Amino acid sequence: MARTFAMIKPDAVQSGHAGKIIAHIQQAGFTILGMKLTQISLAQAQKFYEVHKERGFYGELVEFMSSGPSVVLALQADNAVGLWRETIGATDPAEAAEGTIRKLYAENKGRNAVHGSDSDENADIEIAFFFAGTELV
Ligand code: ATP
Repeated sequence: MARTFAMIKPDAVQSGHAGKIIAHIQQAGFTILGMKLTQISLAQAQKFYEVHKERGFYGELVEFMSSGPSVVLALQADNAVGLWRETIGATDPAEAAEGTIRKLYAENKGRNAVHGSDSDENADIEIAFFFAGTELV
């Protein structure tokens, strides 16, 4: 079965929404293969979002992502990448569909509560970035 990588970002952990988001993940039909609370270092955030390094928001993004604890998760489901992106909604909560996690919990385009991989290939890379194989059930 397919896998994706998910993150509950510092804004959502700080505002106490992590528990509700984990319940939402399970209700959406995912099996959680790995989960941990971690504060991402600035260097890790820079590497994780390297693809955006030429974008104007990069500095703000990596500072925000390393500003407090996040919950990182490895999720399993049929079509895990597509199902998770559908479950979280559009990057900007103003454009996210009703009932999606970003519609429910995101503050704005930058502080947008959750992350999801955008391809099966990146899901494998991102899971390996945060989890040793022995940490996954
Ligand atoms: P993610 O990769 O976090 O799941 P995404 O794939 O929906 O998000 P991307 O376009 O890959 O969106 O952008 C990565 C992240 O960069 C966004 O989730 C958001 O936190 C931040 N970001 C994107 N655009 C902006 C912007 N214009 N201003 C501030 N932050 C932004």
